[in-house]
Amino acid sequence: MAIATVNPATGETLKTFDALNAGELEDRLVLAERAFQEHRTTSFAHRAELLHKAAELLEADQESIARTMTTEMGKPLAAARAEAAKCVKAMRWYATRAEELLADEAPDPADVRDSGAARALVRYRPLGTVLAVMPWNFPLWQVVRFAAPALMAGNTGLLKHASNVPQTALYLEELFRRAGFPRGCFQTLLIGSGAVEDVLRDPRIAAATLTGSEPAGRSVAAIAGDEVKKTVLELGGSDPYLVLPSADLDKAAATGVRARVQNNGQSCIAAKRFIVHTDVHDAFAERFTAGMAALTVGDPMDEGTDVGPLASEQGRSDLEELVDDAVHRGARAMCGGRRPPRHPAGWFYEPTVLTGVTPGMRIHHEEAFGPVATLYRVADLDEAVAVANDSPFGLSSNAWTRDAAEQERLVRDLQAGGVFFNGMTASHPGLPFGGAKRSGYGRELSGHGIREFCNITTVWYG
Ligand code: NDP
Repeated sequence: MAIATVNPATGETLKTFDALNAGELEDRLVLAERAFQEHRTTSFAHRAELLHKAAELLEADQESIARTMTTEMGKPLAAARAEAAKCVKAMRWYATRAEELLADEAPDPADVRDSGAARALVRYRPLGTVLAVMPWNFPLWQVVRFAAPALMAGNTGLLKHASNVPQTALYLEELFRRAGFPRGCFQTLLIGSGAVEDVLRDPRIAAATLTGSEPAGRSVAAIAGDEVKKTVLELGGSDPYLVLPSADLDKAAATGVRARVQNNGQSCIAAKRFIVHTDVHDAFAERFTAGMAALTVGDPMDEGTDVGPLASEQGRSDLEELVDDAVHRGARAMCGGRRPPRHPAGWFYEPTVLTGVTPGMRIHHEEAFGPVATLYRVADLDEAVAVANDSPFGLSSNAWTRDAAEQERLVRDLQAGGVFFNGMTASHPGLPFGGAKRSGYGRELSGHGIREFCNITTVWYG
């Protein structure tokens, strides 16, 4: 895949970039290692000062970087601005909290005595340079949620960003440099995915984090496993959205529409499978389909646009294939199911609701990365749980019910890294984020996220 900015709203190639050659890549690895040896000895207060500065600079750049993101991957401009604001918040959160999250821990005094020590403690030390392989869907956020905790922990980062967001990738390197992080603390590598293996196997790389598709995750994890290097994987999702009889149907439907089409439907934590109790199925389906059909599809730079184009031509044809396969096997499109005739250029797809989906259809088990919802009718809570769990993925889950017993049951039984009631899944710097099953492993954000790339060191004094 060429490293280039191609506007998904028009299909026009705006700028192309050369990949780094072997010498340039080596220079960056040398710099990263040198920077780590220095950065790991700095104080939390110093790192926090730099990260606060980065947040301040990003806040000032909000409009321009939002326009860059929209140009490169097509999300509506308002969503791009919100993404930049969320990054500012996460940077400030980690700048303020990292020292406390990574403070030395004191084991139980009885255990310390029993181990024969006069004193013992646990210290979170940085691991080294972490390779971050990141996707285009939240081109700023996916990187910042890795970089902010990694830099605060004393690690250094190398970013291999998706090939279709090179300008956002270069902006990030520049942002951390302008904030005062020494050269080498955070660098962008303009390389294709074929160059990842050699970087990952390099002894100067300590660990890797990847957000993206299952094949990419499997490849990186296999290589890292071979090298005995730690990985965190945040892969796809096909989150269930359960609607049970006690739900507020108006809110559940309106929130469901947002949960499905956020980021033009290209979010790992988007609600994708709508699983509705038969008692409220028709009333929900009517509201939800009306909401999906009423969305404005158009130029993502227009303030009135709800849904922009998909990020790539390939992404749209993958989505079309999933819908066509389902319809061919008997599913019905209640709305959408096609390219919008009003937008012949660009990679647009109409918001779509499919009913009559069965396990023999690809979309039942695969992730629909675009504005396509599947709607299931279930007889009771048991069937709702069974359908929700009938997926290889387990990122997050959503359920609309005001019944405390139902909520407890769902927390016990839903196979996912999150269970969100009466709302939609969203990430927050203070809450752990990550999945189960084929959605990956490890956690980002919160204290759990910052400790993933630490050497948990036992210190024992005789
Ligand atoms: P990819 O997983 O291919 O891309 C994500 C990142 O991984 C990019 O930086 C990509 O680089 C890199 N990459 C791809 N293959 C490899 C590999 N074998 N080894 C190392 N790095 C690799 O996602 P796509 O953009 O192709 O999207 C395909 C599907 O992935 C989507 O339809 C969706 O299902 C899922 N996805 C999930 C995301 C999430 O947030 N969890 C985000 C994006 C996609 P390059 O761009 O150079 O290929």
